[in-house]
Amino acid sequence: MLDSLSPDTARVLIGGAWRDTAETLPVLNPSTGEEIGRIARGTAQDIDDAVTAAQAAMDGDWGRMPAFERGRILTRIGRLVAEQVEALAEMEATDVGKPLKQARADAVALARYCEFYGGAADKVHGTTIPYLDGYTVYTLREPHGVTGHIIPWNYPMQIIGRSVGAALAMGNACVLKPAEDACLTALAFARLAQEAGLPAGALNVVPGLGSEAGAALSAHPGIRHISFTGSVATGGAVQKAAGGNVIPVTLELGGKGPQLVFEDADLDAALPFLVNAGLQNAGQTCSASSRILVQRPIWDELVRRMSDAYAAKRVGPAMEDHDLGPLISAVQKRRVEGFLDKGADLPVLARGAFVEGLPEGGNYVLPTLYGPVAQDHALAQQEIFGPVQVVIPFDTEEEAVAIANGTEFGLTSGIWTRDGARQMRLARAIRSGQVYINNYGAGGGVELPFGGIGKSGHGREKGFEALYGFSVLKTVAAYHG
Ligand code: NAD
Repeated sequence: MLDSLSPDTARVLIGGAWRDTAETLPVLNPSTGEEIGRIARGTAQDIDDAVTAAQAAMDGDWGRMPAFERGRILTRIGRLVAEQVEALAEMEATDVGKPLKQARADAVALARYCEFYGGAADKVHGTTIPYLDGYTVYTLREPHGVTGHIIPWNYPMQIIGRSVGAALAMGNACVLKPAEDACLTALAFARLAQEAGLPAGALNVVPGLGSEAGAALSAHPGIRHISFTGSVATGGAVQKAAGGNVIPVTLELGGKGPQLVFEDADLDAALPFLVNAGLQNAGQTCSASSRILVQRPIWDELVRRMSDAYAAKRVGPAMEDHDLGPLISAVQKRRVEGFLDKGADLPVLARGAFVEGLPEGGNYVLPTLYGPVAQDHALAQQEIFGPVQVVIPFDTEEEAVAIANGTEFGLTSGIWTRDGARQMRLARAIRSGQVYINNYGAGGGVELPFGGIGKSGHGREKGFEALYGFSVLKTVAAYHG
């Protein structure tokens, strides 16, 4: 059984060794507000040491390891993660405040990413290209080298899986900077990776503040690729810093996911997706569906059914496994409450309820459904990252597309209609990295390329696309006459 508060949690992992840092940061339980441990406050020097250790791994055993051996190690990590699902889920629920069943799903997904990328490690390769007489031309897929991974607090395990998993599969050596609000499962993952035989330096973990360890990592000249998931503002700063070193950046930023519900939709099938895609993880999901677009003839019925579903939602401590847990932090709670203040002029359709005996120090917010909401209202435009959805009426298909595309984001979107031709038209017309037809989220499949358009970011993670992103294509042209 993993111990979430083992001494390693207040250390950084650099070159296979767990090191103390001069300063530490508190680990707060979002369900109670209590301090439950400490994590390291990594510095720019720690980042520098981690990059040096990662480069040594690239120059050593890790860099020379055959792809299938890398794959075997990843597969072993996946097996160890799978054996520890319950322990990891409890750790995540306590650290991040997500209900146990969501935390469990995240741990299962992490195991699945390791399994997928373990199997894929030796299946990505170059090609030969027919060319001029006397030439043999082929391409090689090579790792970037040392890759930086800056991840947020909302889905640490899933994002480690899709980002670090894919980078290791392609033979990169990683420096991971988890979010200061959610480090425990990242540290646990690193311990499991060591146990699975990952060579020293292939994965280095430096917890710390974004403005310190994060900024140092994104500007470090030894990093050859950065993968960032988080807010638009920070993503822009990371891209700017990385630009100084002219390295590629993958940005997975926010979203304002619409679901378009047409009058011919199967409402029984749609209802759980419409509500849960907005409230999963208390709305702290980049691919959350925070806008529900409803064709007017079914407005009354749909709004009534969504309101009933909202009224049944319960908010409580993560370990008690209610529908929603607390938000990650007091800061995030204030941020979401700021949006609720902005919505004071809007009609409230329904709210959920708190369970009895809620701990006083927790970061709890009631889920709230607003409608009808005008397309240009702040709550219909900005990413709230809390348990809030707006319902927007529309008449025609053209109007629905205009509303769906009418934000600066484009990450995920859903279409509910039985009309096959309309499904195909809308799948093309909507600006979005993923489009779901008669579902939302597609179960989060690790196989499915994921990423944004516009302010939702650029680059793709998950599936085989991530493996192309975490590698460089080299063309070799041999003239032999
Ligand atoms: P953030 O973008 O500030 O933090 C994400 C990661 O970036 C963390 O690891 C953080 O330490 C690091 N970071 C912060 N400043 C940095 C810097 N200057 N250089 C390098 N790294 C830095 O996100 P947040 O403050 O935790 O959350 C704020 C808002 O961001 C949320 O309310 C939400 O709207 C959005 N968000 C989006 C996602 C997503 O998955 N799209 C995830 C988390 C947060």
